[in-house]
Amino acid sequence: MRERPGDIEVDIAENVARQDKKRILPIALSLRFIKLSDKHKLWIYIGHKGDYVVIERLYCSCSSFIRSLTRKPGCPHLAALEEAKRLGKYRKLEANPRDIEQILWESLNTKLSTTLRKLLKTTPTASQEDKHRKQ
Ligand SMILES: [Zn+2]
Repeated sequence: MRERPGDIEVDIAENVARQDKKRILPIALSLRFIKLSDKHKLWIYIGHKGDYVVIERLYCSCSSFIRSLTRKPGCPHLAALEEAKRLGKYRKLEANPRDIEQILWESLNTKLSTTLRKLLKTTPTASQEDKHRKQ
C-alpha cells in the first residue's frame, strides 16, 4: 500500500527534514542519545528535564512531540537523532530485553530511569566516536 500524505510517518519524516540544522546540532552533538536496541530502533535521550523514549522517525516522549501530534508531528529530538546517527555521536548500550523494558517503563512513568544509569555505569558503553578514533 502506498503511503498517503497525511500519514503520521510521512509527516514526521517531512518534519525531520525541515528542522533547522543549527538548532538541532547541539542536541545531536550532546552524546545524550543512548541506543537501546538495533532491532527495534529504540533510543533514550537523556534530557535536562528527564529521559525521553525515542523511536527512530516515529515517536518521542517529550512534551513538544505530544503537542505537535494534532498539527505537524515531530520534535527536535527526532531530527537531532538522525543527525547524531549520521555523525556517529551517540552511545550504545548492550541491554537485554528485560532491561530495555525496565528502562522504557521508568523513562515514561518516572521520567528518570535508574536502570539506565546503573547500566551506563557498569556496562562498557562504546561511544561511536571513540570507536572511530581507535580504528
Ligand atoms: Zn522530542
